[in-house]
Amino acid sequence: MNRKLTTESGSQVADNQNSQTAGAEGPVLLQDQHLIEKLARFNRERIPERIVHARGSGAFGHFEVTNDVTPWTRASFLSEIGKKTETFARFSTVAGGRGSLGTARDPRGFAVKFYTEEGNYDLTGNNTPIFFIRDPLKFPDFIHSQKPDPYTNRQEPDNVWDFFSLSPEATHMFTWLFGDRGIPASYRHMNGYGSHTFQWVNGAGEAFWVKYHFKTDQGIRTLTNEEAARIGGEDPESHQSDLLGAIDQGDYPSWTLKVQIMPTEQAKNYRFKPFDLTKVWPHADFPLLEVGRLVLDRNPDNYFADVEQAGFDPGHFVPGIGPSPDKMLQGRLFAYGDAHRYRLGVNHTQLPVNRPHATDADNYGRDGSMRFDGNKGREKNYEPNSFGGPIQTGESLYSGLDSQGQSGTFEWNDRQGDDYSQAGALYRLMSEDARSRLVASIADGLSQVSKQDIIDRSVEHFRAADPEYGNRVEQAVENRR
Ligand code: NDP
Repeated sequence: MNRKLTTESGSQVADNQNSQTAGAEGPVLLQDQHLIEKLARFNRERIPERIVHARGSGAFGHFEVTNDVTPWTRASFLSEIGKKTETFARFSTVAGGRGSLGTARDPRGFAVKFYTEEGNYDLTGNNTPIFFIRDPLKFPDFIHSQKPDPYTNRQEPDNVWDFFSLSPEATHMFTWLFGDRGIPASYRHMNGYGSHTFQWVNGAGEAFWVKYHFKTDQGIRTLTNEEAARIGGEDPESHQSDLLGAIDQGDYPSWTLKVQIMPTEQAKNYRFKPFDLTKVWPHADFPLLEVGRLVLDRNPDNYFADVEQAGFDPGHFVPGIGPSPDKMLQGRLFAYGDAHRYRLGVNHTQLPVNRPHATDADNYGRDGSMRFDGNKGREKNYEPNSFGGPIQTGESLYSGLDSQGQSGTFEWNDRQGDDYSQAGALYRLMSEDARSRLVASIADGLSQVSKQDIIDRSVEHFRAADPEYGNRVEQAVENRR
């Protein structure tokens, strides 16, 4: 039997091909409720796109623990070798809008939601272990410099390089971005990093600083500028096609999760601040320790429902995992939830992709736009109460952060560190071919800048990272002008 087409209110639609008119040749009638409803709904299909990470792809899967990490964290989903937790991952580009080129030279978001029995844990990372800036106050300005210009409405080399030339701490990230890994061949062929420093706390209450690394089991693959232009021209959705197709064919992508662990005492005297998002922790000082394996094996049935409406929040921790004083992380603890409240509404945490799957949310949050789960019925909506409502546990979820001194704004004190040495280390680990491509990619953009002082300041940053690096960029820019 055919399924009956209905209006939004469930009454049958007799004709879905011809709108009602005043006579066969006459104008359309306002009384055609089905037509009005259909057009009005269509006008409202788009929700605000994410200000960053607008273009993305996502898939469900699981995380399986492969190593004992209980000496460092009491997080229950990491408590036993072999333990599996359902996950949802979303990958994305950052600067472009929803319809932008998928193969752009841009960082890639790498966000993983673990549906643990102690609540959802969101690890909202990137495919880079570092970032452009270390203070959230600079984030809106930085993104404005990457987004379309107010007048030309296109990304402007002047703006990109002006901001860089005035932000020496971005030298490491620019070196990364304009290097080979700046354009991954697909979401499957890139690593993911938690990027920030986080806190782990073990069963004895001892705290550690930790950094996450998801190493792709597919191997790193990247695109040259020419390949990216060709592939992106043929299929701007190539990253989406690749992830969707691989999972549909049973070729499930996976990543091995590793962590670096720093004892909190060591952090106090380490040669640079371990909470600086523009720096990595050298592997020689903090070796990688395997934790488990992330496997993606199920495509969402509906892109809008699960990928567009997905909301990741770095503030979603579980007992045994917490924040660090990383200023960018602290800013994101506010900004992500706020973005979802704007984009999806205050009840976004009840959407199927966002709600806890292995436990229930139980609290006194009520009402708000589009509350669709019964709103806890007759239950009391205040606490404390004497009617058996949920009560606080009194448990210590993570360890407090040390702080002292008066509040205020403070210049970044980098101990013996600097803005350039790790950028130089990255340059020097590249092969000669990779260095040539890096210099060429930088010069392609920098040579389009209209103001010489912006070019000069930018070159000086690269020269401070490594004199050969700066000299080659300067020469390559001159050759193009
Ligand atoms: P190591 O020699 O121990 O590690 C170097 C790392 O660089 C490897 O993890 C490698 O990843 C990665 N790498 C190789 N080529 C590139 C590239 N073109 N772009 C980006 N990353 C690349 O050195 P250190 O730990 O002392 O770090 C030295 C520099 O390496 C850092 O300044 C940083 O730029 C970069 N790096 C460091 C990471 C860290 O967490 N310590 C992580 C990633 C990069 P792979 O193993 O996948 O080949």
